Amino acid sequence: MSNSASKSPLKPDTRLAHAGRDPNSFHGFVNPPVVHASTVLYPDVETMVPGGQKYSYARRGNPTTDSLEDALRELEGAAGVKLANSGLNAVALALLSCVKSGDHILITDTAYQPTRHFADTVLPKFGVTAEYYDPKLGADIKTLFREETSAVFTEAPGSLTFEMQDVPAIAVAAHEIDATVLMDNTWATPLFCQPLALGVDLSIQAGTKYIVGHSDAMLGTVAASERAWKGLYDIHGAIGSHVAPDDVYLGLRGLRTLSVRLERHQRNTLAVLDWLKDQPQIEAVSYPALESDPGFAIWQRDFTGSSGLCGFDFKAGTTKEQAGVFLNALTLFGLGYSWGGFESLAIPARLKGMRTATSYDETRCSVRLHIGLEDPEDLVNDIERALARAFG
Ligand SMILES: *Cc1c(COP(=O)(O)O)cnc(C)c1O
Repeated sequence: MSNSASKSPLKPDTRLAHAGRDPNSFHGFVNPPVVHASTVLYPDVETMVPGGQKYSYARRGNPTTDSLEDALRELEGAAGVKLANSGLNAVALALLSCVKSGDHILITDTAYQPTRHFADTVLPKFGVTAEYYDPKLGADIKTLFREETSAVFTEAPGSLTFEMQDVPAIAVAAHEIDATVLMDNTWATPLFCQPLALGVDLSIQAGTKYIVGHSDAMLGTVAASERAWKGLYDIHGAIGSHVAPDDVYLGLRGLRTLSVRLERHQRNTLAVLDWLKDQPQIEAVSYPALESDPGFAIWQRDFTGSSGLCGFDFKAGTTKEQAGVFLNALTLFGLGYSWGGFESLAIPARLKGMRTATSYDETRCSVRLHIGLEDPEDLVNDIERALARAFG
């Protein structure tokens, strides 16, 4: 049904339309069925042996999960893909697949906060120590390596603060000590960044965001390189991870339009930021696809596009109350966590307790925006009104 990306001559947009689909095996219907299942019946007792037939029990997979896993395997150029019931569950599965008692792992200081929470509260119970690193380290990550370092967890751009990092240089250094390299690639999706081609072993997506794309389901995905696949496959089976078929289907449906949606998210975000960066109440905007951004060179080298998540800092001296008035005055931007749907969102970007290897200015007021598929002129007008309300 699908080739690995390296072997496939097809362009990404073509793969998005065709990967993971095999209409001939479902009476010609364009999409696979949503298989609601637990038990799978066998024709006879002789077949009831490992590998005796394709499907054994729905927890292990069914034609709906296969379809999404196959599509992502092709898009990511992976040896294999496993689905998880949320992005955070995908992070946990990926980490559990490559650590053992006594290991030391390195995690970017700019990781998604619940990733830190998992590493700080669950992994220590099993004798795994997490240390955080400055995302600017690049190849110098090796100065933090110990005898027992087994994994490096990257995320680019960083959560809330959008720092880019030199993932290929980190991967080369990590592989010299045979450590597994992980990347949370939720911001760019496999369409705009191909972690495995950058040297990453486990590429993680919060599918909840752009793959589902409509704020109506939770999903996680992990794509593994050849060396990481067995570990991922085994832990996924051992832990009993499973995603309900309706949600898998929403992931498949979202995937087909990923490219057209992302292109619009990107265009709208550039339009809004182009206006926002010049407003007198704003100190700086954060978005690696802008030439003025410190991460621009790495973004340009490693990514082929940008999405709708960005941030900005208010000018020094702005109070938390003013930032609150601004957020409350927005009408088209909803106040809420998560992102990646069709709609615009805003949250205060609070870093308290989220950085331990790098420093940040505690007095600065920052906002994270998700720029949706609305008309950017309306979004700009909404922000302009809210700024006027807060700064009068
Ligand atoms: C949202 C998010 C996650 C977690 O995804 P959920 O589906 O909400 O659990 C992980 N990483 C990043 C970068 C995210 O933005």
